[in-house]
Amino acid sequence: MTAPATIDLREYIRNIPDFPKPGIQFKDITPLLSSPQAFRSAIDQVADHFKGRDIDVIAAAEARGFIFGAPLAMVMGAGFVPIRKPGKLPYATIAQEYQLEYGSDRLEVHSDALGKGHKVLLLDDVLATGGTMKACIDLVESTGAQLVACAFVIELSFLGGRAKLSPPEVFSLITY
Ligand code: AMP
Repeated sequence: MTAPATIDLREYIRNIPDFPKPGIQFKDITPLLSSPQAFRSAIDQVADHFKGRDIDVIAAAEARGFIFGAPLAMVMGAGFVPIRKPGKLPYATIAQEYQLEYGSDRLEVHSDALGKGHKVLLLDDVLATGGTMKACIDLVESTGAQLVACAFVIELSFLGGRAKLSPPEVFSLITY
């Protein structure tokens, strides 16, 4: 099934004020996911944008990155590589620490999942401050793989996250 290209994905993003804490306007993607047409259209639009490009791996961080990353990999005929929180991956891992507002966190990828010769598209649902994607970029580049681009369903441009990222391309479907 191919979704109509005219579908307005913004109509499927719900704003939740003050979640998970006061002052944050949370972009809830669950209405988009529950609409077969909107979900399909989001995946197709990202796939169309990167059509014909030399990409063999889609990599994405848990949890919401997985929701879009796995179907995108299928549609693009690429593999999917999960980037996970500490202690979740069973085999040997490569890790990347990153700073949060308070303290730090860590992302991991299997040591044999990415390396020289892989051409990688990183994907996430939302680009906010850019900290999570920056950690994913550092992780992918530390494996020797080539990062082709970062893609997002939603970019919160007023938070300036894009300035933190230096891949060859940053692509967003919906910008606020
Ligand atoms: P970032 O600040 O770019 O590192 O964002 C971290 C993660 O939190 C992203 O991968 C998003 O999934 C999520 N996130 C951050 N801000 C929002 C928001 N306003 N609405 C929905 N998800 C968000």
